[in-house]
Amino acid sequence: MFADLKNRRVLITGSSQGIGLAVAKAFAAAGAHVGLNGRRRPDDMEATLGTMGAAGGEAEFFAADLSSTEQCRSLVEAFVARFGGIDVLINNAGGLVGRTPLAEIDDGFYDAVMDLNVRSTLMVTRFALPHLQASAAQSGQSASVISVGSIAGYTGGGPGASLYGAAKAWIHNVQKNWVNFHTKDGIRFNIVSPGTFDTAFHADKDEAARARVSAGIPMGRFGRPEEAAPAFLFFASNMASGYVTGQILDVNGGQYMP
Ligand code: NAP
Repeated sequence: MFADLKNRRVLITGSSQGIGLAVAKAFAAAGAHVGLNGRRRPDDMEATLGTMGAAGGEAEFFAADLSSTEQCRSLVEAFVARFGGIDVLINNAGGLVGRTPLAEIDDGFYDAVMDLNVRSTLMVTRFALPHLQASAAQSGQSASVISVGSIAGYTGGGPGASLYGAAKAWIHNVQKNWVNFHTKDGIRFNIVSPGTFDTAFHADKDEAARARVSAGIPMGRFGRPEEAAPAFLFFASNMASGYVTGQILDVNGGQYMP
């Protein structure tokens, strides 16, 4: 179904674990060349990369802290030096940083949340742009930018997560501008917006808190990272979604219906 993903060059930010790692494995299984990223290279990354080549694509890990504009630039440069270009960019790096109520937000917390979620998405996309344009011009197929939004981008986020929710709403919004002004470059822009997925993101929740959250989800449970991955394959594949751009696909078990 996603046969056209074979040999596509896919850079996935924040993919050493959780949703990003599941997405990386799904692209590798489709035969894509995959770049993984995180601030730190996990001890078992060599083994992970080894299993990812089975469908013919190559996989490599690039350490970079995308809160820094310079490291956004160097990540893109390193990926292009390794794979020769970028066909698909997945802006997945993101997170809460912490839970801080309005009355306690200071400059440090503001910068940390906005740098991780907004700056990383903005700057990696900015530095990838000429490579995505070149991909489209050379292949005659659309390149893709797939960003990760959030249910919090609609609802405003839970306790202490106002900046995180606002940062994800920024991602939901900025895409409209990119569609309006960069579709001519041969790039499609789409968002996968997760609900509640079972990753380290929810490490602060005990069993009682998890049960309360699950009770508010029509499907009655957290999502598994591998259940998010096919939405990314869909948006990256021109065979599957060649006329789809500027959309948000909510993968949330019915937890929120915009
Ligand atoms: P996760 O398990 O915490 O994984 C986060 C990944 O991002 C890790 O690979 C982490 O590696 C990397 N990362 C963190 N800070 C980074 C930085 N400054 N630069 C580069 N990489 C960085 O998170 P997840 O739950 O899979 O979340 C993935 C995306 O989905 C995020 O954008 C998140 O906001 C979004 N989301 C998640 C949920 C959910 O319920 N899980 C819901 C809605 C949206 P290092 O720690 O080594 O840097």
